[in-house]
Amino acid sequence: MKATIVTVGDEILIGQIIDTNSGVIAKSLDKIGIGVHEMLSITDDKQHILNTLSSLQNKVDVVIITGGLGPTKDDITKKTLCEYFDDQLIINEKVLTHVTQLIEQYFKRPITKLNQDQALVPSKCEVLFNQVGTAPGMWLQKENTVFISLPGVPYEMKYLIENEVIPRLITKYERPFIIHKTILTYGVGESLLAERIETWEDNLPEFIKLAYLPNPGRVRLRLSARGVDENLLKKEISTQVEKLQLIISDCIVGFEEDETIEVVLGKLLTNKKLTISTAESCSGGKIASIITSVSGASNYFKGSIVSYATETKVNVLGISQEIIDEFSVVSKQVAEAMALQSQKIFKTDFAIATTGNAGPDKGDADAEVGTVFIAIATPKGVFSEKFNFGQPREKVIDRTVNQGLEIIYK
Ligand code: ATP
Ligand code: MG
Repeated sequence: MKATIVTVGDEILIGQIIDTNSGVIAKSLDKIGIGVHEMLSITDDKQHILNTLSSLQNKVDVVIITGGLGPTKDDITKKTLCEYFDDQLIINEKVLTHVTQLIEQYFKRPITKLNQDQALVPSKCEVLFNQVGTAPGMWLQKENTVFISLPGVPYEMKYLIENEVIPRLITKYERPFIIHKTILTYGVGESLLAERIETWEDNLPEFIKLAYLPNPGRVRLRLSARGVDENLLKKEISTQVEKLQLIISDCIVGFEEDETIEVVLGKLLTNKKLTISTAESCSGGKIASIITSVSGASNYFKGSIVSYATETKVNVLGISQEIIDEFSVVSKQVAEAMALQSQKIFKTDFAIATTGNAGPDKGDADAEVGTVFIAIATPKGVFSEKFNFGQPREKVIDRTVNQGLEIIYK
């Protein structure tokens, strides 16, 4: 079983948007055992699209196309599909009713000609009904290849993949099962981790593969089992995970694909009925942003003060000017005072604070470029750590955010 993903859109090729759709689709296909053979990004050009479709015809089993389904002139995928399938566009009544309702509900106006065109689909296609948007997906088949066309808008594409495409693919093709289990670790580098689990890794059964997915400060270990007996795969994966837990229990923070550190943090705080806040300088509110990306964060996250300027640290956060003058704005003392003030202002159990010099220029601070202090105020007192994340600026900020989220586990 082979699939190719084709993303259509000039904006991808000029670097205006990053193609995230392919990754989302690949992940879903992988879960049902369909391997992605190739990912292509092509321009909104009729001939280019036609050439791509015919080059994939009978070469792969499934082609998933995203983008270019909108009603505007630049969106040409639908017309091009019609040409490729030697077909014509017809109104789909169910889609038309849905589009009319959506437009009336959100824009409080009658439907325009352009809106109506959203309900036009090639007569030969099976419509993939789009509950969350106006452009429907389309499923077409020519000889041995299925062509699936989806809207470019990421959440619409995802909705259709999960609710319309995957269920159809599961029924259409017999496939081996692939089961993944991701283990999230922190605090040990990739090579040290590899040494610690070497014997376990060497004794993994043939049908289980291990991948290391390193990120600064944390490493994900992904076990993938492939085979025809789903129960056997699940059983063997859990046996192996139990064995692994005995070896590296000190650095496992969570499991599952979606168990990012912020999700794990959320569960931990919710279960223990604890609260958290932040006071951020060089991370600019990104720690708060990541914490609040998890639904239900309002149960434990109280707020953040992005005290970027020194005067804000003094006037809003309430750090004393003397501490800043005595130790510098990028210092252990200021980071700890920021965390304590945030804990006090938001009345939280924990508060994370960051202060650093992300560069590239030295600026007013005395601290070397890349220096960051991260502090955490806890019910047992305040702790901090000094880092030097080097350069460039984006790296310093990213690492500050990662370490800031991890400091609670230390
Ligand atoms: P619309 O009906 O909104 O016009 P569409 O199906 O025509 O949808 P496009 O116009 O190609 O899709 O893209 C709509 C928006 O979706 C883009 O502006 C972009 O923000 C996003 N998008 C498109 N393709 C991708 C992609 N491959 N990865 C991530 N985002 C994408
Ligand atoms: Mg469009």
